Amino acid sequence: MRTTENVICITCPKGCTLEVLKDGESILEIRQGCKKGHSYVQQELTDPRRMVASTVKIRGALHPLLPVYTLAPFPKGKILELMKALRAMQVDSPVKTGQVVLPNALDTGIDIIASRDM
Ligand code: SF4
Repeated sequence: MRTTENVICITCPKGCTLEVLKDGESILEIRQGCKKGHSYVQQELTDPRRMVASTVKIRGALHPLLPVYTLAPFPKGKILELMKALRAMQVDSPVKTGQVVLPNALDTGIDIIASRDM
């Protein structure tokens, strides 16, 4: 069955609304927007991902929490599980900016890294 869906592109500050013509799960046509927007819609409708920033507990540092983030956009459906994993873990100081604190998080191939020295 053919349907039309509107997707707001968040790739740049313009925030265009793109019209997506679908047949079931297949994308037939994307109207409006630029090339980047079309790639965004393809990704968003097949494998949505987001950058994630959070904190993990750190032992022996000035502050109790170390800011961390995903090195690449993380699968949206696994973000809740990632947050639980980050909440459960603890690292030891010293930690350097860019240091991997959780490699291959949830078998996604995406590392979680420290965003500051501590
Ligand atoms: S479609 Fe292109 S111009 Fe519009 S918000 Fe997306 S990236 Fe920006």
